[in-house]
Amino acid sequence: MSADPIPPLKTDSPRWSDQLVSAVRRLDDLLDRLGLEPADFDSAGLPLLYNPEFPVFVPESFLDRMEPGNPHDPLLLQVLPLGAETKEVPGFLLDPLEEEAARAVPGLLHKYQGRVLMIAARSCAVNCRYCFRRNYPYQQEPSCLADWEPALDYIRSDNSIHEVILSGGDPLMLTDVRLRELHDLLSEIPHLTRLRIHTRLPIVLPSRVNAELLSLLASSRFSVVVVVHANHPREIIGDCAVGLSRLKQAGLSLLNQSVLLKGINDNIDALVELSERLVQEGVLPYYLHQLDRVKGVSHFEVLPQRGRELIRELRSRLPGYAVPRYVQERPGESAKTVIEFTEEWE
Ligand code: SF4
Repeated sequence: MSADPIPPLKTDSPRWSDQLVSAVRRLDDLLDRLGLEPADFDSAGLPLLYNPEFPVFVPESFLDRMEPGNPHDPLLLQVLPLGAETKEVPGFLLDPLEEEAARAVPGLLHKYQGRVLMIAARSCAVNCRYCFRRNYPYQQEPSCLADWEPALDYIRSDNSIHEVILSGGDPLMLTDVRLRELHDLLSEIPHLTRLRIHTRLPIVLPSRVNAELLSLLASSRFSVVVVVHANHPREIIGDCAVGLSRLKQAGLSLLNQSVLLKGINDNIDALVELSERLVQEGVLPYYLHQLDRVKGVSHFEVLPQRGRELIRELRSRLPGYAVPRYVQERPGESAKTVIEFTEEWE
């Protein structure tokens, strides 16, 4: 039986790079597009923040999935700067995951045995307000191919490293040419067998899943795993579903990681529907992350007791493969900590 043809993206879609250029970058423009006023957020108890250091950045495709006139829209709340970000809350730190300590050489984090993470790009196609790397010093990281030599040398010299995770920022912000160059340099290292790509672009900017990207990943000598990042079922519609389907039909393994976010997905119906839509599109729900305690994101925190209740309910409503692992990253640990069954909370 022949494989289904890879579905085309809409032929009238602008190129992904053009869509990046036309992304909404001002809070006023975002509100205008949704027919909302600052007063709508004041009356909803969500006063806004004008933050030039971490500005609004939303591509049209993601904006199109928001509900006009709804200040509580779960997609909008992921990208909306709120005054709560300026609140000083004990325990919420600039670098709670202590990534600085894991930085082996420029651009390379070595946290876990057998795999390393490359900060392959210094930007994303969206500014998520809860971002765990919102304070990351990206300006220190490689900006051109030659800058990667120390990282490549580090990987070449350690035979125990079998997997490279391309992260960032978002590695799919690299052009097709630059991504191929980096991929080809990595593929010359014989002890590497797996390439993992952590990306939110197929979700927020699905036109990034173009023919060049599919060709590169499908022809790679690596076993390629693409880990996307969606938090709410309304993200998995329209072009996003088509983009995921194209990745799947190119033969790639697809996983999703979500963050448990107050007011966005901390309810059972949203989580059930998210898992169902992901599975429908061939994506396995992999991780549900406890929020990393980064400075400025405390208003998104859901306590683990509630997270465990939600996971228990998910187990009663979904098959096991559709229930993500509820995890937390703890600095210095040899792997993510599964917190579904642990009771402690510091
Ligand atoms: S896509 Fe990921 S790295 Fe980029 S802003 Fe969002 S959470 Fe942060």
